[in-house]
Amino acid sequence: MNINPYENALTQLDAAAKIIKLDEGLHEFLRTPKRVLTVSLPIKMDNGKIKVFTGYRVQHNDARGPYKGGIRYHPNVTLDEVKALATWMTWKCAITDIPLGGGKGGIVCDPKSMSISELERLTRRYAYAISDIIGAEVDVPAPDVYTSSREMAWIMDTYSTLKGKMVPGVITGKPLSIGGSKGRAEATGKGLAFCVREAAKKINLNIKGANVAIQGFGNAGTYSARFLHEMGANIIAVSDSTSGIYNSDGLDVEEVIAHKAKTGKVRGVAKSKEITNLQLLQIECDILVPAAYENQITKDNAKDIKAKIIAEAANGPTTPDADKLLYKNGKMVIPDILANAGGVTVSYFEWVQNLTRDYWSHEKVINMLEEKMVNAFNDVYNTANEYEKELRMGSMILAINRVVEAINDRGIWP
Ligand code: GLU
Repeated sequence: MNINPYENALTQLDAAAKIIKLDEGLHEFLRTPKRVLTVSLPIKMDNGKIKVFTGYRVQHNDARGPYKGGIRYHPNVTLDEVKALATWMTWKCAITDIPLGGGKGGIVCDPKSMSISELERLTRRYAYAISDIIGAEVDVPAPDVYTSSREMAWIMDTYSTLKGKMVPGVITGKPLSIGGSKGRAEATGKGLAFCVREAAKKINLNIKGANVAIQGFGNAGTYSARFLHEMGANIIAVSDSTSGIYNSDGLDVEEVIAHKAKTGKVRGVAKSKEITNLQLLQIECDILVPAAYENQITKDNAKDIKAKIIAEAANGPTTPDADKLLYKNGKMVIPDILANAGGVTVSYFEWVQNLTRDYWSHEKVINMLEEKMVNAFNDVYNTANEYEKELRMGSMILAINRVVEAINDRGIWP
């Protein structure tokens, strides 16, 4: 069954709107992205043939500040997925209380099957195609699934060339040499680890010795593993898109990272047993970190999840049906818009550094990130308690209230 992430995002919004008795017109406002751009991107491939790719940029809401959100490269990208991701960005920026709105971009492509020069042409063509609607004070993209500092550099360069001046603040997640921020690469995993630490305190779970399973070993999964391990947890299982590995005594995280860097996969790490992605989700553990894609935890597998804490490093990994089951079963879900907000928080720091041309130490960035994440966690936790709801609902209510306050203060023009 195909689950539409945008319908999930709207289901979450509708449920929160009902609880806070949100004005009907404002509710409609938040259900609809402000702008949706679809571009077609003709690219000359290495074999000399022209291939036309489709790209999107969705700007959901900018009441609190410029649109902000990553760009995803994946064969399964759809407009509805990008709309969902843009909507979640609006909530994420509101929860961490950074002065930014929500946007997202994507290109339907299979980056694994493309050469670096094809990827560069595609990226630059996309940057050109969206250049009229992005900008340091308008809409600031960033990395997401299968994009990294390399693509951000190409986009910054293309945009800057078009404008005739260097504009580092047009995009975040850049290499350090051209205005990237210290601490941005590991920010999502670091922020997630801070959230898990705070959540564990609330349920009296000792992170030291807690068992962790992580689905997905990209940027968010890798750094989550590293930092949770540094806090004393045992990473007993990890997976990538092909398969998972398990060791009940705990995997050597640095060895898994090195193995994945060398072979492209986690499979084959010494002293590990191979498992499937589904087995990983259902493994006996204390903390589960879905760090891959949307719709991994569904009503079909949620009942078999044993973890006490589910920390969503991915965007939208849990369907609304599954969410209800997890809550009923007493699980603490740290929702994506809180758990993975460390990435956009350090993107915000990068953007501020770009605008002020003042660059900060790693220590300063991480300390500021910790403060933001702890405050966000407590704001969400307190809102959830106030309404006697789960953390997802607490985070939605907190975010909607902050965005609505900004809309009301600005007023509806004309
Ligand atoms: N793509 C990341 C996210 O989903 C980061 C976005 C950003 O830094 O703007 O939160």
